[in-house]
Amino acid sequence: MEIAKAVNEKRGIGIDIGGTNIAIGLFSPEGDILDSTTIATNANAPFKEVEKGLFLAVDTLLGSNIELLGIGIGCTGPLDTNQGVIHNPYTLPGWGAVPIREIFQKRYNCNVQLENDANCALLGEVFARRGEESVRNALMLTFGTGVGGAVLINGQLFKSDTFGHPEFGHILVALGGEECYCGEAGCLESVASDSALSKKAKLLGFYDFHDLVKKGGLLTKGEAIVEEWSTAVSRALWTFAHIFSPSLVLFTGGVVESLFEIAKPRIIKNMERGHFYGDFTLERSILGIDAGVVGAATLILL
Ligand SMILES: [Zn+2]
Repeated sequence: MEIAKAVNEKRGIGIDIGGTNIAIGLFSPEGDILDSTTIATNANAPFKEVEKGLFLAVDTLLGSNIELLGIGIGCTGPLDTNQGVIHNPYTLPGWGAVPIREIFQKRYNCNVQLENDANCALLGEVFARRGEESVRNALMLTFGTGVGGAVLINGQLFKSDTFGHPEFGHILVALGGEECYCGEAGCLESVASDSALSKKAKLLGFYDFHDLVKKGGLLTKGEAIVEEWSTAVSRALWTFAHIFSPSLVLFTGGVVESLFEIAKPRIIKNMERGHFYGDFTLERSILGIDAGVVGAATLILL
């Protein structure tokens, strides 16, 4: 009698660790997301307390009879990606130093990779556009509580051993502008982040920037906010375009949903004054909040 043999299906896991939530996805070897779940980050708790829930979420997604190809982890920095250690006292204050690669390797006995979350988001978007030549030289700006970003040059992530990834939020765009926590004043982040926009919306009598959008005030009371955002972002892109000469520029983040279509023609118009940078296509993210987890999976699948 022939005994039915369980088929070991090959799967990968992608994990995207943010300051509030951790997204976990199950992937086919080709990078298609098959299932996903989210747990709370508990940024103020010790990592030991978070670890249990994280393992349970991964185990549940994997089920049985799975051949695990690897685990890719994207995380809000600072990180030591070479050593696979998270050390982020800013947005993960309770966690301490977490040797996450070693922890996952010990438990799952597979290839584990750690990368900055903005880098993962760009890798995810590039994966979603695979086959397009322009993605070999792509730049992404993420507009959230802060402003971050990532760059791919000839298909390779731009990063250094010591700093991990570029801090685009602290490019200077407004001389004499608002003071920033980094020690400078007039940084892109202090003008163009979600927090900066909400500060300005409050001055106009709205609860925050999203309240201004919801009440339809973007092109009336909020016109100056839109113009200032477009100008600040144009100035930052002016700098980036002249350094990196990207073919594709991507915007992602909550405020982009409201501002992109209105700001895009203003930004393009500002950029068209320049003679030295090559043309680039300006697009918004395709994957939205899933970009990070997809990009994390590509670390071990591709
Ligand atoms: Zn700054």
